[in-house]
Formats: sequence, C-alpha cells, structure tokens
Amino acid sequence: MDANLREYVVDRSQGFCEYCLISQRYFSERFQIEHVIAHQHRGETIASNLAIACSRCNRHKGPNLAGIDPESGALTRLFNPRSDTWIEHFVQRSSGIIEGLTAIGRTTTYVLDFNAERRVELRAAIEKLATKEL
Ligand SMILES: [Zn+2]
Repeated sequence: MDANLREYVVDRSQGFCEYCLISQRYFSERFQIEHVIAHQHRGETIASNLAIACSRCNRHKGPNLAGIDPESGALTRLFNPRSDTWIEHFVQRSSGIIEGLTAIGRTTTYVLDFNAERRVELRAAIEKLATKEL
C-alpha cells in the first residue's frame, strides 16, 4: 500500500478504531488498516474503502459484509465506517457495553464481538478514567 494512502487513512481515524471506537492509546500494537469491502468481494485499496480497526474488530470482521440481526433474524449488512454514522447505529453505556440501536448496529455488535467480556471491562475502565479526568 502506498505510504501516502496509509498515512491519510491513519490520520483520518484520529487514533480510534472506526468500528468499536476504542482509542489506539491503550494498545501497544498498532491498529490495522482494514478493507471495508474485502478484496475477496472486489473491494479496492482506495481511501473510500479503507478503515482503521483494532485487532479484535479486524479479526472478527474478516471478509464479512453482513450478518444475521440477532433480533429479527434478517440478513443485514455490517456497519460501514465510510458511509454510516456511528451514533446512529450504536450507543456505549457507562458499563462498557455497546448496544446496537439499529439492525446494522445489532448485527455489527454481534459479528465483531464488541461485547466480549474483556473488551467490555476495558471500555468500562477507560470510562471510569475519563470521568476522573474531567
Ligand atoms: Zn475495534
């Protein structure tokens, strides 16, 4: 990947995973550049198809484009950080839990395993820290 493109994508994310919104500052490993639409589905390596993802989001998303909405059972596309707005699809509670507000939000929360125990614990700890810092 072109170094300028890489730098642009990294800068655009402002240091956050574009799926679960966790900050890079809490991780020693660098977040990865991810294809929103995977190569496998003819996704291109262009800015409008790339996003920054933490290793857990990246691993769980893989080449997935969709999943099953746990509420309705309907086939539903995943959240697209390039065309969707996070707060329209998710809310993060002070407990660290991320709740899906829409079918896309619920499906993405499930497929990307946002609420795995350790991830929730980390978000809750960050939330506590942020409250103290204010
Ligand atoms: Zn993430």
